Amino acid sequence: MSKKKIVFSAIQPTGNLHIGNYLGAVRNWVELQKNEDYECIFCIADYHAMTGDKTAQDRRDQIILMAAELLALGIDPKKSTFFVQSHVPEHTELAWIFNTITPLAELERMTQFKDKSKKQAKNINTGLLTYPILQAADILMYKGNFVPVGQDQIQHVELTRDTARWFNNRYGEYFPETEALLTETPKIMSLLEPTRKMSKSYGLSHVLELADEPEVILAKLKKAVTASEPGEKSPGVENLLLLLKNFADETVYNNFVEAEKNGTIKYGELKETLAQAIGDYFADFRENRTQYLEDRSFLATVLSEGEIKASKIAKASMKEVRHLIGIR
Ligand code: ADP
Repeated sequence: MSKKKIVFSAIQPTGNLHIGNYLGAVRNWVELQKNEDYECIFCIADYHAMTGDKTAQDRRDQIILMAAELLALGIDPKKSTFFVQSHVPEHTELAWIFNTITPLAELERMTQFKDKSKKQAKNINTGLLTYPILQAADILMYKGNFVPVGQDQIQHVELTRDTARWFNNRYGEYFPETEALLTETPKIMSLLEPTRKMSKSYGLSHVLELADEPEVILAKLKKAVTASEPGEKSPGVENLLLLLKNFADETVYNNFVEAEKNGTIKYGELKETLAQAIGDYFADFRENRTQYLEDRSFLATVLSEGEIKASKIAKASMKEVRHLIGIR
């Protein structure tokens, strides 16, 4: 057994990645897999995405799309285990076992459940409520020590720690304590409503997708909310400056911060500079993404190799878990 710490994270295949996903989570995934101290496992969480309203064909397309985007960002299947959640059905088995030890009230207080129930009021399925249990199963199946995610997921990672504790108290010490790993940018805000997190569920004009062409980025940024007076404190301007810090040269960023402080900032200029910086930053990504999407058989091979690696660990974990709980 390797002594390396296990890093586990997953993402739902629900369309193109946006800059919040990237700065909050996926950029960190790519960095962590370069660190020899960690064994990284990354998963396309298609069972989770079933809590939404997609058709079967949407699902097929979106799994492939997410695989192409993550590879194009630098997830390296030689360094990391990279697979699709439903290809390893043991995840649902462990989730069931965790269902039986999770108090209902713990799920009902999850803010993501409350938010998502509002967003899809016509489809408040049980999966929306129990999804953090499946998430605990995803992480603990691989005895995940660290989970690189954005701020909105912290509550779920805490529930994973609780789940491990409930299980260990009842059946004996088995699962580790899991910790969330945050980046310096754990919460990127919406362009149009910068007091809410950037999320595709509010509409595509709220987000910058990594695949957006430069002219689309500029058009979206032009509509982004700023302050009515230069120099006025504004979450929209703060968000744009944070993006600039991440994608432009330090001197360019410092100049805008200075201009913001002394009230000479021109928002039009800030938006154009930012659009250029983001467009350039993701130019290689856009090209790689197109190439991967043209080679579906390569993507299928990568995912089936990941499935073999992940299955091996999951089967071993489940054998032990079944024994611990007394059903085998
Ligand atoms: P889910 O978390 O349900 O898999 P998302 O696509 O919302 O689906 O999130 C994927 C990852 O991106 C998660 O780690 C999440 O915390 C992170 N993330 C999502 N939106 C933001 C945001 N606006 N700012 C920072 N991180 C984000």
